[in-house]
Amino acid sequence: MKTLLIGEYREGKLLDSTYELLGFAGQLGAETAMLLVGSETQLPSYGGTLYLADAASCGEYNPDLHKKLILDAVQKENPDYIVFLHSSYGWDLAPRVAAALRVAQLSEVIALADGGFEVGCCNAKMRRTVKPAAGRAVVTIQAGAFPALQPGGIPLLQKLSAAGTAALEFIGYEAAEKKDVDLGKAEIIVSAGRGIGKKDNVSMIQALAKALGGELGASRPVVDAGWVEHSHQVGTTGQTVSPKLYVACGISGAIQHLAGMKKADFIIAINKDKDAPIGEIADVLVVADLMQFVPALTAKLAKQ
Ligand SMILES: Cc1cc2nc3c(=O)[nH]c(=O)nc-3n(C[C@H](O)[C@H](O)[C@H](O)COP(=O)(O)OP(=O)(O)OC[C@H]3O[C@@H](n4cnc5c(N)ncnc54)[C@H](O)[C@@H]3O)c2cc1C
Repeated sequence: MKTLLIGEYREGKLLDSTYELLGFAGQLGAETAMLLVGSETQLPSYGGTLYLADAASCGEYNPDLHKKLILDAVQKENPDYIVFLHSSYGWDLAPRVAAALRVAQLSEVIALADGGFEVGCCNAKMRRTVKPAAGRAVVTIQAGAFPALQPGGIPLLQKLSAAGTAALEFIGYEAAEKKDVDLGKAEIIVSAGRGIGKKDNVSMIQALAKALGGELGASRPVVDAGWVEHSHQVGTTGQTVSPKLYVACGISGAIQHLAGMKKADFIIAINKDKDAPIGEIADVLVVADLMQFVPALTAKLAKQ
């Protein structure tokens, strides 16, 4: 089985997420070749074949030209799977490639299953297992779902180029608005999940964060409900954090949340369900009703 992995490059830099593609291929037990529209000064640490096109001439974001380059590499490599990250680059480009090749597309794969791939459904409450009905497929993988794998080595370069007009003109990147809190730098984060029940209980989690000298984080439902600002959201569509201590209060441990916080040094989860998935990555799982446990812990800390 062979994969063609589509690496990512932005603002003159190879993105580390490129190595998650290698993690995916590793779990699949597949051979790899990679394609990157980037620069020779920013090569991945990877000893396989790398189809390299110059971002200076092909553009960092030019779906028309990048599609042509990918189709060229597909012809040369004849891969079973063409694999993208499920990023703004990948989810934009993947369907164009799938349509041009007239093959299936599997979007936002989160795990491998027996002979197939798992993708989230029903707002990630369930997983659906799918596989291409026949032959080749285009796959996008969810950020953080597969471990980054950096095999080392120097790529065997195969240079590609493409020319032509584009239907879209890339104007530039715009930095997101400055956030009221930078969770990326926080050493302690106490996060509120849907288990807090209502907006009024955010203050209870905030009080624990304050007692620990940390910042308030939140899972997506808490943000979607408007209880906490989006700048506090942790996860694939929020911030990726790596604090020394992460306290998850009433958070089940969906993969999209874990992707944002699993690099924390020490994780304490407070959950009334002893089987909540967050228990699989938590260093300590406190099985308790947070409505009782959190105020008691905050009061105890305040006395110290
Ligand atoms: C494309 C996409 C992107 C996403 N991005 C993100 C993201 O960036 N961040 C994110 O967090 N989610 C994200 N999600 C949503 C994610 O899939 C989950 O739905 C979400 O993380 C669940 O949040 P939760 O754990 O707070 O809620 P739930 O899954 O509802 O879990 C609530 C938990 O609270 C516990 N609980 C309830 N009451 C109590 C109590 N009194 N005491 C103690 N425990 C209690 C329950 O046992 C349960 O485990 C995304 C989903 C999709 C599809």
